Amino acid sequence: MALIVHKYGGTSMGSTERIRSVAQRVAKWVRAGHQLVVVPSAMSGETNRLLGLAKELAPPSASADSQRELDAIAATGEQVSVGLLALALQAQGVPAISYAGWQVPIATDSSYTKARIRSIDDTRVRADLAAGKVVIITGFQGIDDQGHVTTLGRGGSDTSAVAVAAAMKADECLIYTDVDGVYTTDPRIVPEARRLASISFEEMLEMASLGSKVLQIRSVEFAGKYRVPLRVLSSFTPWDIPVEEECRSGTLITFEEDEKMEQAVVSGIAFNRDEAKITVMGVPDKPGIAYQILGPVADANIDVDVIIQNVSHDGRTDFSFTVNRGDYARTLDLLKNTVLPATGAAQVMGDPKICKVSIVGIGMRSHVGVASKMFRTLSEEGINIQMITTSEIKTSVVIDEKYMELAVRALHKAFDLDEGAVAAE
Ligand code: ASP
Ligand code: MG
Repeated sequence: MALIVHKYGGTSMGSTERIRSVAQRVAKWVRAGHQLVVVPSAMSGETNRLLGLAKELAPPSASADSQRELDAIAATGEQVSVGLLALALQAQGVPAISYAGWQVPIATDSSYTKARIRSIDDTRVRADLAAGKVVIITGFQGIDDQGHVTTLGRGGSDTSAVAVAAAMKADECLIYTDVDGVYTTDPRIVPEARRLASISFEEMLEMASLGSKVLQIRSVEFAGKYRVPLRVLSSFTPWDIPVEEECRSGTLITFEEDEKMEQAVVSGIAFNRDEAKITVMGVPDKPGIAYQILGPVADANIDVDVIIQNVSHDGRTDFSFTVNRGDYARTLDLLKNTVLPATGAAQVMGDPKICKVSIVGIGMRSHVGVASKMFRTLSEEGINIQMITTSEIKTSVVIDEKYMELAVRALHKAFDLDEGAVAAE
């Protein structure tokens, strides 16, 4: 008997018919002799609908009072899901009980709309499991120490599920979703993309942070910190396939770099269109200048990604960085109005039509020439690289947005990731 956590995404919970099929799948696992904790998302579209209602009544505001209410509203989506799933299980003769975050409780800090889990008390859940029940816990939400309902940020049910699995030391956390695993890249862009049988946790972390939307990045961080065995798999396989078969499907996120994985130098190509580039030109090259430019940006709560400072000419240099595209206009204004006069820089320029394309692989640690192969591939396609950034296991380039698909396809092929190519998973 194993303790298993299942997480079902919004699409898997999208209708009563789908909820019934989730219940059948869960019941199958119970019959196979396992203890089950299930963490579902709200029914698909529900969180958007709820937040849409809120927006009709009041424009988005950063005030804590309004953010508190947004969380109270958004959290109801998951409450409906857990109740419906418990009923569906009971209707199939499987004892089940649902809990909202506060009932467990899942304790979080008080940062509404992006709260972090502090601790999970599993006493109640364990007692129910011991009594032979399936326990269904709301994803996405918790409670702070003042008793206010909080949410973990969009896509947060992944993190809830991994956190519950970590707190309970579950044997495995299965994330059921509408794709059948993690792919070498987005199959909508590269039809030859392959599903990875396994991927290391570090690679997954890079893929998630670089724009692969399969898992919420915080859930991957959590899994890494507590070494939660995690598998991403499809909820659209027939519910009655054998449990053993399900255990082999999807993508396993691993913590050991086994031999097989080491053979693949690059495991995946990630991309992100949500960025914009900003360049401050003619900055006096003196100590403190990076701070004078990026300090106000950070104070305005704007995330900065790729940063480049050029060598200086005649005591002046150019300084470029990228921000989320949604922050582009605000960042430009901030720089023009405050940083430019304060630093004596010549000019601020920007380009919102860029994208970032990255190759990711732990094999890059031990292989030379990987980045240069990336650059050669892009040059053969006539794609100009505007910025480059690297870490131990990834190389990212910033290029013109209009070449994104071409770049992803070319790199996917160059690194032998296409279906049928002889690369190890
Ligand atoms: N229902 C929430 C959302 O739509 C949380 C989740 O689905 O993971 O973001
Ligand atoms: Mg999701």
